[in-house]
Amino acid sequence: MKDAVVVGAGFAGLYMVHNLRSLGCTVQGFEAGANVGGTWYWNRYPGARCDVESMEYSYQFDADLQQEWTWTERYAPQPEILSYINHVADRHELRQHFQFDTRVVGASYDEGGDYWVVAADDGSEVSARFLIMATGCLSSTNTPDIPGIEDFAGEVLHTGRWPHEGIDLTQRRVGIIGTGSSGVQAIPVLAEQSAHLTVFQRTAQYTIPARNRGLEADEIEAVKSSYPEFRAGNNAMPGAYGLPYQAERVSAFDLTPEERVEELERRWQVGGTTFMWAFSDAIVDPAANEVVAEFVRGKIHEVVSDPETADLLSPHHVIGCKRIVIDTNYFETFNRDDVSLVDVGTTPIAEITATGVRVGGLVHEVDTLVFATGFDAMTGTILRMDLRGRGGRPLTDSWAAGPRTYLGLSVPEFPNLFTISGPGSPSVLTNMVASIEQHVEWIADCIDHLRSHGLTSIEATPEAADAWVDHVNAVADQTLYPSCNSWYLGANVPGKTRVFMPLPGFPPYVKKCEQVVANGYDGFQLGAVG
Ligand code: FAD
Ligand code: NAP
Repeated sequence: MKDAVVVGAGFAGLYMVHNLRSLGCTVQGFEAGANVGGTWYWNRYPGARCDVESMEYSYQFDADLQQEWTWTERYAPQPEILSYINHVADRHELRQHFQFDTRVVGASYDEGGDYWVVAADDGSEVSARFLIMATGCLSSTNTPDIPGIEDFAGEVLHTGRWPHEGIDLTQRRVGIIGTGSSGVQAIPVLAEQSAHLTVFQRTAQYTIPARNRGLEADEIEAVKSSYPEFRAGNNAMPGAYGLPYQAERVSAFDLTPEERVEELERRWQVGGTTFMWAFSDAIVDPAANEVVAEFVRGKIHEVVSDPETADLLSPHHVIGCKRIVIDTNYFETFNRDDVSLVDVGTTPIAEITATGVRVGGLVHEVDTLVFATGFDAMTGTILRMDLRGRGGRPLTDSWAAGPRTYLGLSVPEFPNLFTISGPGSPSVLTNMVASIEQHVEWIADCIDHLRSHGLTSIEATPEAADAWVDHVNAVADQTLYPSCNSWYLGANVPGKTRVFMPLPGFPPYVKKCEQVVANGYDGFQLGAVG
């Protein structure tokens, strides 16, 4: 029997294996893809890059690595992030612990022996004391079930499963469905690469200029010369990122209208998601939020020459309640003659035909159809496995009313199962590499504690999990996040239970995790077999 099975070889799985190995544990890793990288292995669409700055969106556990690695752009492109992850895998000899091209399809907990029996799609089974899901919040693609898709004669692509060999679109009329982060990044590049691009937009998007650029040697040096302080400062930020962009934040209504516009304009010119930090109440007070939203709509009308197109591109939901997006030349792209915008919010897509996409009475002819329709986020990947806890109870049952976890790390009745950046943790509202490192280190410390005390199981109590779910909801309800249809709520997947899944606020969460340990794993039941 192994000490642990780790599922997934992205940022989370690699660091988990590294830590378990340091504890002297035997580990079996499984990864569905052919290599390491996770998100950055799968999402190879044109324009893919991070939206947390490169000097922050990287591991902090290896001080030499962060000195030796040099990021080239403010927001690193996907190939650079993938080579970074490959470099880390080689540097720490992590690849050898994984079986690639292998999907974990299920796992059952053996109550008599306190271990998991994990089944993979190659028919193999491995037993392990601990089962660690490093399966990612955004790793199961969501493709809407639009009638006729099987009749489409051209190529169907998803941004989250882009062909590794790339694709020549120069002679093709391309259609793209979806204007979330993936669509907004891909659209300007696809417009350049294709013969014609048709964008099918259901909900207009608030997007802020990324102002991506090459990094200068002196700014890289400034961070490298104080990386520990830079990391500590970021970890004290609500989302574990954006230290350089913090400011004395005041309510929008403590400023004059001119001062509000000045601050918004300043942040618009700086670019990036920290635009949302212009006012302390931007994501809590609808009136303050509307000031920000109206400013962005004004910018859209400045950039887009055709007023009707500008209207159609102008969102009217709460800004930030769907994840804020950053872009390079997104709105400018709609001034091109070879780009068309089709509103599928008012009239949904009726069907996909052999030659295109029918909306109302009109078929929009395309040769290649790109789904930028996102992911079954946060729970989809875990629920797609047949996980069975105490009494053979399936996780799908336990989570029927939404994910029920303690700290986003542990599930009652599923002992010795850990979820890295699971629902109920800050995860997707943060710089995820920082969140991942915090979870991995917490899990490794916990396993070390159990082993050194002769214990073989740890399980969240139902009371602790219920109180935690209530806490996550209460924190989210103080914000405007739950106010529109977003994947944070599961609203993008038809039939999915609508619950706000991530927890806003990284520093208080970290403190809570530390307190739980200091109080003898408060909220958990620890045990020993036999
Ligand atoms: P992943 O990288 O998703 O890795 C999970 C791995 O588990 C995958 O390789 C998958 O194949 C594997 N897996 C899943 N199920 C199974 C199974 N049953 N069996 C075997 N293997 C399995 N976050 C940020 O903080 N900043 C950003 O700028 C940012 N940009 C992003 C851009 C894109 C395009 C996307 C999609 C996400 C982005 N994210 C960003 C979120 C990103 O997912 C995380 O930052 C991070 O990469 C997640 O790492 P992970 O290891 O937890 O999961
Ligand atoms: P997403 O945010 O869920 O966006 C999906 C898009 O598809 C939305 O515009 C959605 O419209 C549309 N859509 C879904 N079903 C549709 C249908 N049946 N008909 C028409 N339109 C439909 O997915 P994503 O863009 O892949 O991003 C997911 C997350 O991944 C991001 O929020 C972010 O966390 C991460 N990501 C980050 C970056 C980055 O910049 N670093 C890049 C990509 C992804 P509605 O809005 O109407 O639902």
